[in-house]
Amino acid sequence: MQITPERQLDEQTGGLKLLFPMKRIDVPSRDAVGSRNKFLHPEVADLFNALPEGIAVTDMWRSGKGSFQAIKRGRPAAKPGNSGHNWGMSIDLDLKQTMKNWGIWKTVPGWAAKMAAIRERMAEFGWCWIYHSKGLEEWHFNGLGKGEVNTNGFYSVRDWVVSHWDLTITDRELQGLLTTCAIIFEDEGMNPGGVDGIVGPKTRRAMKRYSDVTRFSLTNSRFHWSLIACCMEPKEVE
Ligand SMILES: [Zn+2]
Repeated sequence: MQITPERQLDEQTGGLKLLFPMKRIDVPSRDAVGSRNKFLHPEVADLFNALPEGIAVTDMWRSGKGSFQAIKRGRPAAKPGNSGHNWGMSIDLDLKQTMKNWGIWKTVPGWAAKMAAIRERMAEFGWCWIYHSKGLEEWHFNGLGKGEVNTNGFYSVRDWVVSHWDLTITDRELQGLLTTCAIIFEDEGMNPGGVDGIVGPKTRRAMKRYSDVTRFSLTNSRFHWSLIACCMEPKEVE
């Protein structure tokens, strides 16, 4: 199921937000997920809701700006747009709590064996554990679906994003997204100086500034994904 985001234009600033249909997830109040973050892509939400009772989570959807802030705080987060969290396909587990709730904590000896048990259980329900490019994130799982489960999830995330979100944008929309980023990041350098649909020196300068601040390479073919990730808002669907 590929989903097209709704465009929300701010007439005054020319800024553009993209509203992505997502499902809200009910998690127990003791789970440490912020109230704004309880969203997943509708298909991934179905995978989540099929998981056994007792799963404890610490993070779900995260805005591109949130990813950027996590990097700034020194956490091992992917750049805006590169994280499965930005597309509503990833969750972070409270591993110890989940192990306790699933009866793994006391019955399985040793952390490695406990982790193997968790990964096996998650895989049964279509959740893939990955190696992060910057090291091990053993709490992070992607809802790629049963057929897709493997340990090479970093690349599968990209394939998944391509097949599940329509991320095509026009040059005019590119300028609208940069305008929004200038506001979000409070950084006038990201302002393309108007939305006229012509990518000239001002727009290129704004793109360069965005690239410098977020450290998302201008030459990366998914550069615009990163902008979209920063300007996306979940729109709750049933
Ligand atoms: Zn994660």
